Order: sequence, then structure tokens, then C-alpha cells
Amino acid sequence: MLLTISFEEVTESIMSFEYVQEIPQPGAILADMPLPADLAAAKKKKDEEISRVFTHQSDKLVLIIGPCSAHDEEAVCDYIGRLAKVQAEVKDKIIIIPRIYTNKPRTTGIGYKGMAHQPNLAEEPNIVEGIKAIRKMHIRALKESHLPAADEMLYPGNYPYLEDVLAYVAVGARSVENQAHRLTCSGLDIPAGMKNPTSGDVDVTLNSIQAAQAPHVFSYNRWEVKTKGNPLAHAVLRGAVDYHGLSVPNYHYEDLAQFAEAYQKRGLANPTMIVDTNHANSNKKYAEQPRIAMEVMRSRQHSPLLKKMIRGFMVESFIEEGAQKVTENVYGKSITDPCLGWKDSEKLIRDLAAMV
Ligand code: PEP
Ligand code: MN
Repeated sequence: MLLTISFEEVTESIMSFEYVQEIPQPGAILADMPLPADLAAAKKKKDEEISRVFTHQSDKLVLIIGPCSAHDEEAVCDYIGRLAKVQAEVKDKIIIIPRIYTNKPRTTGIGYKGMAHQPNLAEEPNIVEGIKAIRKMHIRALKESHLPAADEMLYPGNYPYLEDVLAYVAVGARSVENQAHRLTCSGLDIPAGMKNPTSGDVDVTLNSIQAAQAPHVFSYNRWEVKTKGNPLAHAVLRGAVDYHGLSVPNYHYEDLAQFAEAYQKRGLANPTMIVDTNHANSNKKYAEQPRIAMEVMRSRQHSPLLKKMIRGFMVESFIEEGAQKVTENVYGKSITDPCLGWKDSEKLIRDLAAMV
């Protein structure tokens, strides 16, 4: 029936969708905004260094650190420039992967959805401009810092717009049970951090890693595709929320030990854990993040298994501490989750390096 009517008739007839504008294919965006060859080479080198941590050939820690959401290119590049200076100091102990998160999952679906969705906070959402804005910001940050970044995979189909610049991808707590996210991660050649779901269910996390490590055939961006499986898919522990809506951390020694044991039993490749120090682990009390990271470092010292499996942290940090409303317009301050400020972040990086 549908085949006998035109696209316009179809789009008019279905529900309340308004087809606003067609989004260019990734090939067109990449051709218009190419990654310079020297940056591609720098990223490749960094990918190899990062991969050695996840395959346990290197004892450095990875530190995925930056604002909850990257809403302002200037402040993000300023912040990452600061990270680059500290990175030079701690390069023998820590690999810094800046968080440049441009797609934000929202608990109720309401609110700022990230730069990919709304590149200009004073204007209506514009996804075509948003995709160009995030690519521009990622390339500029890489050019200025030589630190390839992490982003969240919220819409798996958008990955090709950034595939040549990203060093790390996280699948969020609300997406990790989704087959499309898991299967897309199976085709990446960079680490994919599978967060525990908001329920905290250990099996869901491990199932998502198993799925991402396996080869698949599936439908992706209007193609039938085949993937090889991603041996760098791993777990990110971010705490959970209980039946009553209260935060339940999963960074304490017993939580980590139980998770590590269950993870090992699965027989997955490169069993690796990253601890997210904010979200339900800190109950969004951002200033607790250094204490949480230090506690995990001490747990690592206590247990050879944890030392082997815990390979890094995810920290929410920006220039100014805390968070603000979108309308407040304070430079370098988060408009989504509250972040650690620059001074405390710099101290945390140095303190972590001293414990590696
Ligand atoms: C985040 O990293 O900002 C985030 C939204 O994480 P989670 O999916 O764990 O809530
Ligand atoms: Mn956040």
C-alpha cells in the first residue's frame, strides 16, 4: 500500500512528524570538514597507546575527564588546553582523554540535548548545524591539544560524523540495554565503555560487553553491515538508583570485587573496569569525586585482581565548579550535571599520578 504513494504523501499521512530538513550524509560532511593528515596521524598514535591500557599491556591509567556536556566551543577548548599542559606532566602515568560530550540523554527527555541538537543556546534546535558544530569543535580541540576525545553514543547512526576524530565512546546508562547501541559498538576499533544501567544490574552490563565484543550482521544507516566485534568494549561503573529513586554507589571495595569476579567468570576479552566518580556514585555531589577516586585507588592497592581490572576513571570537570541554568551564561560552567572546578581537577590528576 505504502509503495504506491509518494514520499510526500507518506510523510503527510503519518502521525505528527514534520520533516524539517534533510541531514547530509557523513561522507558529505567529512569531505567539507576534513581532518588534517597530521591530526589523523596523531590520533592513530594515541589510539595505539590507549589500546595498550585496555589490553593490559600498559600500566598507565586512562582518565576520561571533562564537562558533562560540551555546550561552548571556546570554554571547551580553553579547558582542554589546560588538560594538555597537565597531560605533559603526568604522561608516564596517565593518559588523558577529554570528555567532549555533544549528545545528552535526558532523564525525562526534556531539556538541553547537547550541541549536536542545539548548537546555539539562544536559538531553536538545528541538527544539521549541530552536526557541523560538533565536528568543528572536536577537530579544533584535537588541533590545539593533540588529545583525541571521548563522546557519548546516544544516536548510533551519528557515529560516522565523528568516526575519524574520536578516541573513546561511552554508551550511557539509559542506552546500554539497547541492541542498536551494542551492535554499533561491535564495529568500532576504539574502546567502547558500556555503563551499568540505572538499575545497576551487573548482568545487563556484562551482556552489553559480550554483545559488543561479538561479530554481527545488522541494519545500520540504511545498509546491511557486518562487524568483527570490539575486544576493547569494557565496563564503566556509574552507581545505580534504587526502587525508591535513591542513589546506590558501586565504587566501594565489595561492589568492585563482586563485579570483577562476575566479569572474570564471563570469559570476555580484556576485562576492564572504569569507575565514573560522578552520577549515582557521587549522588551528583561533584566535590566528592576526588575522594571517590582515591578510595578506588586504595582498593586497587589492596587487591591484585582490582589492580589488574580497574584501568581508569571518568570524571566530570570543567573550568568553574558546580552547574548553572542555561540562562545564567557563566563561562566554563556546566549546564547539565555539576562538575569539579579546574583547581580541584588539576590536583586530582596529580594525586592520581602519584598513586599509579
Ligand atoms: C554522562 O556521562 O554525563 C551521563 C549522562 O552518564 P550516565 O549515562 O551514566 O547517566
Ligand atoms: Mn553527566
